[in-house]
Amino acid sequence: MSSTSEITDNNLKNCIAREDSNCIECELNGELICFVDKKFANKFSIGNILYRLLAIEIFIFSGLLIGHWWMLISYVSTVLITFLIIEPRLLCSHCPFYEREGKCLKCWALRGMPKLWRYRPGPINRTEKTLMLILGSFIDLFPFLGSIWGIVYFFMNIEGNIVLGVGILISTVLFLIVAGYFSKVLLGFACKKCANFSCAMNKVPKEVINKFLEKNPKMKNAWIKSGWKIEE
Ligand code: SF4
Ligand code: SF4
Repeated sequence: MSSTSEITDNNLKNCIAREDSNCIECELNGELICFVDKKFANKFSIGNILYRLLAIEIFIFSGLLIGHWWMLISYVSTVLITFLIIEPRLLCSHCPFYEREGKCLKCWALRGMPKLWRYRPGPINRTEKTLMLILGSFIDLFPFLGSIWGIVYFFMNIEGNIVLGVGILISTVLFLIVAGYFSKVLLGFACKKCANFSCAMNKVPKEVINKFLEKNPKMKNAWIKSGWKIEE
């Protein structure tokens, strides 16, 4: 490839963000989630929204039982700040979908979140990954603590708390069902095909990543600069 075409290629958006990509003939068609399949995107959104709503319900019941509200307040505020501001910066700004036109994310997962940051073609660095893991663990696992605490409190103080106790037990069962469904959608499918390759959860094989990078020189250069090795 000539240096002139390299410069031109480096100015091009990645093939997920471009309108003119020849996806029909691409060898990676089907290997990656490159398009927004509305059915799948809705599945993800329903799982995500139900997960958060049931978590909130658990914190409301445990708040009513125990009489504390810090869990609910910290959970709701962290979820909002994470999805609206921090995750788009730490994780999404490195994703090929982030380079699409528009002021909001147009992808299969956090559709509609505001794009407050610039696109970063290179991979996520260690600090971003660690912060994302801490935040992700909090918003996904903290509801389990709220549930266990509320249920233990209920069984130690059954008298006068039957309605609230039954409420937290039902919410927990529903939460566990949704958590199973959501992790199947994510870990069982999406993480194996997601184009945000440097996410800590990503399971796309290295050869597929390399083929994608070959198609997208701007991204490839940024990845190599960050220490990625193209050779097997
Ligand atoms: S890798 Fe790029 S060109 Fe290939 S199917 Fe995905 S978006 Fe289309
Ligand atoms: S696919 Fe995932 S990482 Fe990429 S922009 Fe959407 S939410 Fe962010």
